[in-house]
Amino acid sequence: MTKQILVLPGDGIGPEIVEQAVRVLELLRDESGLDITISQATVGGKAYDETGHPLPEATLAMARQADAILLGAVGGPQYESLDRELRPEQALLGLRSELQLFSNLRPALMYPALTGASSLKPEIVSGLDIMIVRELTGGIYFGSPRGIRTLDNGQREGFNTLVYNEAEIERIAHSAFDIAMKRDKRLCSVDKANVLEVSELWREVVSRVGEEYPEVELSHMYVDNAAMQLVREPKQFDVMVTKNMFGDILSDAAAMLTGSIGMLPSASLDAQGKGMYEPIHGSAPDIAGQGIANPLATILSVAMLLRYTLGESNFADQIERAVEAVLNDGLRTPDISDNGDSIGTVAMGDAVLEKLQQSAN
Ligand code: NAD
Repeated sequence: MTKQILVLPGDGIGPEIVEQAVRVLELLRDESGLDITISQATVGGKAYDETGHPLPEATLAMARQADAILLGAVGGPQYESLDRELRPEQALLGLRSELQLFSNLRPALMYPALTGASSLKPEIVSGLDIMIVRELTGGIYFGSPRGIRTLDNGQREGFNTLVYNEAEIERIAHSAFDIAMKRDKRLCSVDKANVLEVSELWREVVSRVGEEYPEVELSHMYVDNAAMQLVREPKQFDVMVTKNMFGDILSDAAAMLTGSIGMLPSASLDAQGKGMYEPIHGSAPDIAGQGIANPLATILSVAMLLRYTLGESNFADQIERAVEAVLNDGLRTPDISDNGDSIGTVAMGDAVLEKLQQSAN
């Protein structure tokens, strides 16, 4: 059945990088028989400018209809003085919660040609390929009660609630085990079960779900140790699963192992595998409109979309191989160039398309 893809370019470099990623989708549709329709809507600051809201009802309705969403980035300095609920970033939170996108996939993949870009020694990071699965719609960022109150003695205190119920843990565990089954079949669940009751329950439920996946080797690690191991010996990990706040921190640390923000895609999935796919970076207002943004994170987001929502792993592999081949040819946008030689956004898109066409022929 034809799958519907909704494209939300957003702000800053969003439209520039998304344009290249859409060319990849169109090529696969027109020349390789990928059965998709592509539609587009506004989101973020652009949507605020046009409609007065960063997530217009019409965009949300199209997002609900779509099988998958490809998002560029949102935000910009001109929107920073708006009320919080009208800021572009609220559109992302709105889409995640409205669509119940609870499973956030953040790969950290080291391309051989970019090993020198990492802040760690090449032997520590070469061949690195980790997937962090972060619970995205629960935990301490959403728990209540929350707030700042004044105590009897006049002191103020801030408080938040870290809460997970069994169903929430089960669904993120299933998501992580399913992903591990598509990879090296090793899953490390990260918690703080020596201190937190929530983590005790987390560990118990993840272990129970694990019995349904006998092929996956499950291990558990305390979050402080996991942070240390990520920079000491990151290649020991295949898939990691963790709650919202731990995942927020660990996935950024893991991303930086690879040295470049312009290279990293992400996915946020619901229980049926519908997903929103986006680069991890922001709208980069400092370089917007200059034609030099790196489109590879967005192109790699298309690969994730094909693998995780459309079940088209072959096309996903083709895209990832094309990106790797382009890097092996020495082509670089300025953010990943270490010798001053670089090409622009469109030329990088052209190069990936050319490799894809070669692999199809
Ligand atoms: P950023 O990720 O936009 O930029 C950080 C640095 O990385 C900048 O120097 C930028 O030029 C560079 N960079 C980012 N992506 C690049 C790419 N594809 N190619 C080349 N260089 C790239 O983070 P920021 O500057 O902190 O935030 C800018 C705006 O983006 C803010 O409004 C912020 O709220 C928003 N933001 C949006 C998202 C999102 O849409 N998911 C995520 C993070 C930040």
